[in-house]
Amino acid sequence: MAAPIRSVVQRFPGIETIEGAGVRLRRMFGNRQVPLFDPYLLLDNFGSSNPEDYLAGFPWHPHRGIETVTYMLEGEVAHGDTLGNSGTIGPGDVQWMTAGSGIIHQEMPQRSEGRLSGFQLWVNLPARDKMTVPAYRGLAGGDLPRVPLDHGGSVRVIAGTFDRVVGPVRGLSVDPTYLDVELPAHESIELPTPRGHTAFAQVVNGSGSFDATPGPNALPGETLLYGPGERAHIASGDEPLRFLFVTGRPLGEPVAWYGPIVMTTREELSEAARELQNGQFIHHRAPVREE
Ligand code: MN
Repeated sequence: MAAPIRSVVQRFPGIETIEGAGVRLRRMFGNRQVPLFDPYLLLDNFGSSNPEDYLAGFPWHPHRGIETVTYMLEGEVAHGDTLGNSGTIGPGDVQWMTAGSGIIHQEMPQRSEGRLSGFQLWVNLPARDKMTVPAYRGLAGGDLPRVPLDHGGSVRVIAGTFDRVVGPVRGLSVDPTYLDVELPAHESIELPTPRGHTAFAQVVNGSGSFDATPGPNALPGETLLYGPGERAHIASGDEPLRFLFVTGRPLGEPVAWYGPIVMTTREELSEAARELQNGQFIHHRAPVREE
């Protein structure tokens, strides 16, 4: 018997939001959706051809208790952090940052002639890992495995597995899958999804059918949350379709959330606020490099 196919149970068009020092973006889901997307907390979709919408950027700010995953499609973001990392995230690049016990960083979009677009996903950490040592993965787009599909199109594997190709982000407790799928017009794809894991798709371009419902049931830019099942079936319409496909093991733990800090209890939030005031927020600094 074929594994049960997942249905789209809710569609999210996103809400226009101002974040950082004045960046205009679209929040696809966030603290009002907890725990629908567990273990994922937030997805921001930023995209604009007008530098005034993004140049103010996200100056120095803290994170604790989560991972932030930035995936750039167009344009560049310069970043720096208290681990001593600094650099630029360009088109196709991924920054998978584990804030753990605490990091202070800045993320500054650079002026570009064309568009700036990308996504930032927040992944929750289990209570036992909230105060883990911060870690940072910078993945160049050219190094991401890209699996060509038989009839055109491709799947880029950031995390998880597609067609026996394993993505570079491994060993995380929520066992994430993060794929970037491009389908030509009038094609379809089957994506296996672990039973019991949360699954959602984010439409980047085009429209299509994201479950067994005939005809298109998603618009460009929408986030589609799946119900239970063991695979997803997605078909493009008259236009090519590009979407992100994400799954993860739910944590099922309480969420205490204040801005960029997400913990399990209110006491841990108060502690973080106190440490920020006292200048004791950073528990782990960059390891000393040997010359
Ligand atoms: Mn940040």
